[in-house]
This record gives sequence, C-alpha cells and structure tokens, in this order.
Amino acid sequence: MGLREAAAELSSLRAAYREAAAKGLSLDMSRGKPCSEQLALSMEMYDVLREEGDYFSEDGSDCRNYGFFDGLPEAKRLFGELLGVGEDQIFIGGNSSLNLMYDVIAKYLLKGALGSERPWGKEKKVKFLCPAPGYDRHFGICEALDIEMIPVAMTPQGPDMDRLEALAAADPLIKGVWCVPQYQNPEGTSFSDETVRRFAAMKPAAKDFTIFWDNAYMVHDLYPDRRDRVLDILRCCEEAGCPDRPIVFASTSKISFPGAGVAVIAASRANMARIKALTVPQTIGFDKINQLRHVRFFGSAQGIAEHMKKHADILRPKFELVEQMLQQELGGLGIACWTKPLGGYFISFYTEPGCAKRVEQLCQEAGVKLTPVGATYPYGKDPDDANIRIAPTYPPLEELASAISILCLATRIASLEKRLE
Ligand code: PLP
Repeated sequence: MGLREAAAELSSLRAAYREAAAKGLSLDMSRGKPCSEQLALSMEMYDVLREEGDYFSEDGSDCRNYGFFDGLPEAKRLFGELLGVGEDQIFIGGNSSLNLMYDVIAKYLLKGALGSERPWGKEKKVKFLCPAPGYDRHFGICEALDIEMIPVAMTPQGPDMDRLEALAAADPLIKGVWCVPQYQNPEGTSFSDETVRRFAAMKPAAKDFTIFWDNAYMVHDLYPDRRDRVLDILRCCEEAGCPDRPIVFASTSKISFPGAGVAVIAASRANMARIKALTVPQTIGFDKINQLRHVRFFGSAQGIAEHMKKHADILRPKFELVEQMLQQELGGLGIACWTKPLGGYFISFYTEPGCAKRVEQLCQEAGVKLTPVGATYPYGKDPDDANIRIAPTYPPLEELASAISILCLATRIASLEKRLE
C-alpha cells in the first residue's frame, strides 16, 4: 500500500471507529474472570452440606469447629489425587493461592527457605527470574516485597531456558523463579517436557533457589480430547536429586468460585514440614466447611474433570469467536499475531512494536477496557510496547464480538498511524 492509499485507509478506519465508539459501549476484558454461567455450575455446592445435615469429617471431627490446621484428610486426598502426590505432600490453605505464594515468600524473607544460610531478607538483595510476558500479580508480589525482577523471554515451549539457566548459575542472589507451567497467563502455552526437565536439572548458584510453580490452570482444558499435559515438576526434581526446589500452588478459583475456593500447596515432605512449622503460629486453621463442601461436591479428581468439561463448553465458543474474528480482520495483514491456546483463560495478542499503548488508548476511548498494556511485564514495562492480554471468558458472546471488533479496528489504526508518522 502506498502512502496515499494508507492515508485513505486510515481515514475510513477512523470513520468506522467513530461509529463504533459512538455506541457508548462499556466492555471489560481486563481480568480473567469466570462468567456467571460458569459460577452457576458450582452453586449446588452450597446445598450439599445443609441437605445432608452432615458437617463431619471422615474421622468424625466437626468441621464447624477448630481443628485440621493443614486441611481435612479427605480434602488432602482429593487435591493429592489432582496433583499426583500423596496426602502428606499437601497443605490446604485458605481461599487464594496468590495469598499462599505471597505468604511463603514473606516467610522466606523473614526466616529463610529450607537450606538457606540466612533469611532472604538479610541478603544484600533478593532477585527473582520472571518469565515474561507473565502474570501481573506475581510481579506485584515482587514489587511489594522489594524483590528485584529479571525478565526472561517466553517461547512457545516455556521460558528461554538457556538464559534462565545461565542467569541462575551466575548469581547466588537469584533465589526464585515464577512459573505458570500450563496454559500460562497470558500466553496460554504450556511448558514442554524438555523445559520441565531442564528446570529440574538446573544448577543455580543459590542452594535455596526455589521454583514457584503456579499451576493455576492445570485442569482448564478447552478441548478435553486435545489437551496439553505438563510433566510433574515434583517428580522430575526428586529424580534429579533436588526434591526441595519446587513449591507447587493451585486453587479451585476457576473451578468453583474465585475468592471462595480452596487453595493448596504441594511440595516435598521436607518443605511441607518447614512451611507448616512457619504457619503454625499464624493460624489455628482455615475454612474446613468450605473444604468439606468442595470434597462432597466434586468427590474425586474425575469429578473435577467432568465439571471442567462443562466450563469448557461455555468457554470454547468464546475463544473460538476471538480466533475467528482476529483471523478474519487481521489475518495476513502482518500487523499482529496472537496465541491459540488449548486451555486457560487468556489469548496473548501482539501488535507491531510501539503500538500496544495506542491500541489500549483507542479501545479505552471506545468503551473497551483491556488489561493495562505493560502489566504482563516486570515493572509494567513491555520493552516492545506490543503485548496485549485478551481475557475472553467474562463477557457474553455478543459483547465479546463488539470488543474484539474494536480491538481489531484500533490495531489497524495504530499500525497505519505509526506508518504515516
Ligand atoms: N495464578 C495465576 C496464574 C492466575 O492467573 C490467577 C488468577 O488469575 C491466580 C494465580 C489467582 O489465584 P487465586 O484466586 O487462587 O489467588
């Protein structure tokens, strides 16, 4: 396209944009939240205990009272089955895995991890490797706790392991790495077997180097017969002789209710003992009635798998609509690319370098709220100003179509503006 044609194209796109913006839309694609149909799938959970009138754990303890600081035995069994470990490797916390992550790191800063020479907070500096783009709230924890973040690029197989291994081997102040191994937030990709094995085989300079393995989307397949499966990091690390390196986090936030689910940690027995010892003074116990509700409602890992198929039926059309529209409106133009995940909550969208903030602004002005551009990178800085996280789960299909149509218009406008600058 010559400059004159480009200018004409821009003015016709701007006219279409003005028309769309005049509709006064108010659409929110900023956070990966389940939609109300998904939430409705779990509502029966609130009837189970009352109907049965049975609030007792399998050992006869009354779940309405204090007890079971680290989780009900039947809840540990359920999550152990889900995460492929024994009950003695499960710690059940409150309602949020993010809260558990913050808490473990805060404890390590105050008291040190297993094998630490001193509390992390007594080091000159603590640094974490941050595969990016990644989950903004992981980066938020680091910022809040003064942990320096070192970005490592993501590839379709997981983080750039050559760089990650080299960085960790060279600096004993690098104490941790964030990982979302399955259907990563926001890329939607899953770590390959080789990536997981390399995590287990790493030779970090810090003896207490810890992998924060946030398995938030482990059962969140969109296509139950075409799903990604990630190797078990606990087993790989055990086989590689570093069983205490990973701590696995998960929750039912996007299985039952965000903010009212059950969060868990899975780790080596030695790490379990340390985490429990550090948590004992903090609480007498978590919400066991909620644990019991979840166990009675889901029954087993198979029960959770069946339940997640119902989520997939609701979400699949949304992801497919986004893919279809992006392909139709932007495919072949060479101005954007995006991921095509088989599960999780996000699609990662890339504009041409230097265009994402402008796209965000145009969307915002037309009533479409996106995750702030840059939020998917440490310190909110996307070096290329290119990544936009699309969260298609929450809006109804019709609203989603309007939002994506504006995103596509905004992307085309921003690219042409850049070209004509
Ligand atoms: N981890 C990841 C990767 C997430 O995407 C989210 C929510 O979006 C969470 C953790 C939050 O989990 P929770 O609700 O258990 O704190």
